Amino acid sequence: MYFGVDYYPEHWPEERWETDIKMMKELGINVVRIAEFGWSVIEPKEGQYNFSLYDKVIDLLHQYDIDVILGTPTATPPAWLIEKHPNILQINKQGQRNNFGGRRHYCFNNLNYQRYTHKIVTQMVEHYNDNEAVIGWQIDNEFGHEASDKCYCDDCQKEFQNWLKEKYSTLENLNQTWGTVFWSQSYNSWDQIPTPKETWTAHNPSLLLDFYRFSSDSIVDYQKMQVDIIREKVAEQWITHNLIFTGHTLNLDNLARDLDFVSFDNYPVWGGLAKPVNPETTAFNHDLMYGLKNQPFWIMEELIGAQGWDQIGYLPRPNQAKMWTYQALGHGAEAIIFFRWRACRFGTEQFCHGILDHDGKPKRKYKEIKEIKEELDLAGDDFTNSTRKAKVALYHSYDNMWAWQIQPQSSAFDYREEVEKIYRPFFNKNINVNVISQLSNLEQYEILVLPILFLVNSDWIKEIESFVTNGGKLVLTYRNGVKDENNIVTDKTLPGFFSELAGIEINEYESLQVNQQNSVVFENKEYDTRVWSDLITLTGAKSLAEYNQNFYAGTPAITENKYGQGEVYYIGCSPDDKLLSYLYERILIKTSLNAIETEKGVEIIKKTGEKNNYLIALNHNSQSYKINLSKTYKTIDGKQAKTELQLQPFDGIILKQDI
Ligand SMILES: [Zn+2]
Repeated sequence: MYFGVDYYPEHWPEERWETDIKMMKELGINVVRIAEFGWSVIEPKEGQYNFSLYDKVIDLLHQYDIDVILGTPTATPPAWLIEKHPNILQINKQGQRNNFGGRRHYCFNNLNYQRYTHKIVTQMVEHYNDNEAVIGWQIDNEFGHEASDKCYCDDCQKEFQNWLKEKYSTLENLNQTWGTVFWSQSYNSWDQIPTPKETWTAHNPSLLLDFYRFSSDSIVDYQKMQVDIIREKVAEQWITHNLIFTGHTLNLDNLARDLDFVSFDNYPVWGGLAKPVNPETTAFNHDLMYGLKNQPFWIMEELIGAQGWDQIGYLPRPNQAKMWTYQALGHGAEAIIFFRWRACRFGTEQFCHGILDHDGKPKRKYKEIKEIKEELDLAGDDFTNSTRKAKVALYHSYDNMWAWQIQPQSSAFDYREEVEKIYRPFFNKNINVNVISQLSNLEQYEILVLPILFLVNSDWIKEIESFVTNGGKLVLTYRNGVKDENNIVTDKTLPGFFSELAGIEINEYESLQVNQQNSVVFENKEYDTRVWSDLITLTGAKSLAEYNQNFYAGTPAITENKYGQGEVYYIGCSPDDKLLSYLYERILIKTSLNAIETEKGVEIIKKTGEKNNYLIALNHNSQSYKINLSKTYKTIDGKQAKTELQLQPFDGIILKQDI
């Protein structure tokens, strides 16, 4: 497998390089990523290209049999370019121009920037397309990050208008679809349509959603331009991008389409955080990455040391980076590249610690990387190539996420938190979930979850209906089916298209704010609910839980409906983890799925290889736990494993079983 590190040779004197590379070799590193911020190294002045630094490093790496991934350096347009074309800098929502001095400071639609991007990428690919050491390319770096996803400049406004012309053909159609009669916003010329810069009020929600889609398409098109340049000139080298998931206006499904495979930058902890994010957050990110192309992905940046720019975060404890590595591999990663080789002495990322710290000496983290590699070598390719089957599909859509960002409807609502709430009980029960982006080929699943699916496209209904008719279990939540794909509220009684499937009608609802709660009774126990309360009328479904507070008392909050061979569950509130967990148990009994109950934060992943089955046991906690296993498991070096497995704090253990 590929096991590597992100390396910045331009930060260190040339005489150090061979020492670094020898140390990498000692760790078993076989690939490095370089150059993704190196524009001013390659082109210090306009038109003066100088590849000597990277040429020397690549030669040296090649001598040690280490392969190279080259980043195109377009996330950091150099000072000379911004001085010459200051309009490359983006305009923010307030109408102010961004400044030089950080990174990602460019407008995707700026024609000058596209021209310079074309030149630098062409120069790089012509220089390295037949280099034996270079195996692939990473386009740019973390598209959309640092709020670089949206630009409100005149070029973007013009392009937005063109994008709308393409989508709606006529102004009449656009006015009709968006409902611009509201507040006298009807347009009689395409030039009148604004980008949604700040106003006293919120903009039209349909305009906003289209602007988000346009902003995403701008990034996808910009990436495609680079992909096309590279693909035309290379034979064997592949192309990827290092994605992040932070809720930007970037449709990762569309971005993934033009790549050979996706890569993910995995940071379970970052500057200012006192502890890592919840393990299910990381798990969900991995499942989302796998789902983008339904194929294994790479980790292009895997955290090894404490990170942060102006503030440093939690120091990963002994073995914790190994556990995160095994979690990524468990959820579908096939290659791991650690960020970074050595902490830099200067620049914004001075406190992003790597395998080596500023002093360059091999210490604890260096030893850990060595151990990880030795274990993964024992596990071998059969483990790396093993697969993880899921019978639960959770649908995630960017259009839907953006519609929620535009109108969260409650101060207590957070899109990601609510989706994770729905995902978490599956994670806690160690049940694999595929995060899917297309509502197709559903027959491979037993449970389909559509969390807070605000926007519904009527084309999907047939597919979903046939899934349930054939015995599938469909889980719907509050606010499903409220709007169409243009962000227009349905005129059907809620939950709109799902009303018949769910056997219910919702005639009133209430948005609950922070510190406000409702409560429901499920199987004789009371549970708190938050964010939302639907008032449900049963039209065929049966009630599984009822509200018990004054105005709401006795009305259904969670329902179950038989439909064809299957069942539809509707959750009209945002329940706590316990209630959801009990509800899922009720659903799981009707499937072939088996939960594996573990202590909170103990994760078990099962994978299947050609030679062996694998069990990955992860302890995300700072205390140790025991788990019981069947007698058939062996340790990764082939010895009989104990049936009572002791998991140390932050342990990650791979076990195998003959097929
Ligand atoms: Zn712009």
